[in-house]
Amino acid sequence: MRYEILIVDDQKGVRRLLEELFKRDNWIVHTASDGLEAIAKIETISPHIILMDMKMPNMNGLEASQKILANHPELTIIMMTAYGEMDVIKKALDAGVKKCITKPFDIMNLRQVVEQMVKAEKFQ
Ligand SMILES: [Mg+2]
Repeated sequence: MRYEILIVDDQKGVRRLLEELFKRDNWIVHTASDGLEAIAKIETISPHIILMDMKMPNMNGLEASQKILANHPELTIIMMTAYGEMDVIKKALDAGVKKCITKPFDIMNLRQVVEQMVKAEKFQ
């Protein structure tokens, strides 16, 4: 089976980079450019992984993650935060976000984290 990922980031370049990376690994890729769009999308798709940027206009990644997990606690969210945002990271983990990755990230490291996460969740 093919895994599905939702990439949420306000920067088009980041979305495109991650989209290419995961498509190359045969993932089905969905994208959203802010928290509001992510929340709307999650009503129509059930991705195995959500890769969520923290800093975005309209609705940031923390608020979007909290809202998504309130309705879909089974979803696996990995959040991308800026270096040193310990307060945000704590709130995100408290809300049920599975892991936080510091931006700027090493793309191969990010890929490895996502692969490990998807294996650990043992999706059927
Ligand atoms: Mg951003």
